Amino acid sequence: MRAEVAERVAALKTRGKTVGLATVLVGDDPASHVYVRNKHRAADKAGMISIDVNLPADVSQEEVIAAVQSLNADDRVDGMIVQLPLPDGLDGNAAVEAVLPSKDADGLHPYNLGLLILDRPGPRPATPSGVLRILEHYGVAISGKRAVVIGRSFLVGRPMAIMLGTKGIDATVVQAHSRTPDLAAVTLEADIVIVAAGRPGLLRPEHVKPGAVVIDVGTNRVDGKLVGDVDFAGVSRVAGGITPVPGGVGPMTIASLLVNTVEAAERTAALE
Ligand code: NAP
Repeated sequence: MRAEVAERVAALKTRGKTVGLATVLVGDDPASHVYVRNKHRAADKAGMISIDVNLPADVSQEEVIAAVQSLNADDRVDGMIVQLPLPDGLDGNAAVEAVLPSKDADGLHPYNLGLLILDRPGPRPATPSGVLRILEHYGVAISGKRAVVIGRSFLVGRPMAIMLGTKGIDATVVQAHSRTPDLAAVTLEADIVIVAAGRPGLLRPEHVKPGAVVIDVGTNRVDGKLVGDVDFAGVSRVAGGITPVPGGVGPMTIASLLVNTVEAAERTAALE
């Protein structure tokens, strides 16, 4: 995916259009700093300009919005992300809403989530897009299959469930969450299980139908180590396919951000 993006960036450059990805990072959460650094590295490798706005944790909401608005007005910026979560006391939703929908690399602006519900073209949320790309790349049959998505955040679980159930993808989708009383009863029916709960070790071998495909979105730090939501060693003995953490969905999220950004740049170039 990154090679494809790099080619598209190079093609735009020959027409005089550079492609830029900007990030807004607030505070000093070490994990967020790592994610943002990885995004910039990937953008650089794809030949994009990357613009890094770092704000201190004690910044005001107005200053965060002003930073987003200044990137909205910056012609070098085609795609932008506000790294979530913001520190306590700041409203991440309001910051995301301030991003111009046409520059929304994360696909999380309410306007773009509306386009998703309406099944109209627009930037799709990056993490679920990355998951679909994994399934597609490995030839996992989705149409007519039963998929369970564990988690219902606006960032991952909810858009993931909508995308899997879209016409043309056609999974039969169940969305599980913390109030699902018997998780195993639901997941044991599934051909595809996507876990995005932020609970290390949540999905165990007894939750998984033999041969099912398991996608682990979870990114948790346990004793300084990055782990997913799936008991990888146990579940990999039962599953037909499984994604690792680290690796797996994380890099695909970044690749999807780059795709959203180059698509935004192509739309801009088409209007020039
Ligand atoms: P979130 O906003 O905290 O949402 C977690 C969801 O999981 C909620 O819907 C919650 O249910 C559900 N849940 C929690 N405990 C559960 C349980 N025991 N059984 C069933 N469902 C449970 O988190 P998020 O932003 O969606 O992120 C989820 C995970 O993915 C995190 O580890 C995050 O770091 C990771 N992530 C990874 C990437 C990547 O690129 N790899 C990108 C984004 C997020 P309720 O709604 O009932 O509370």
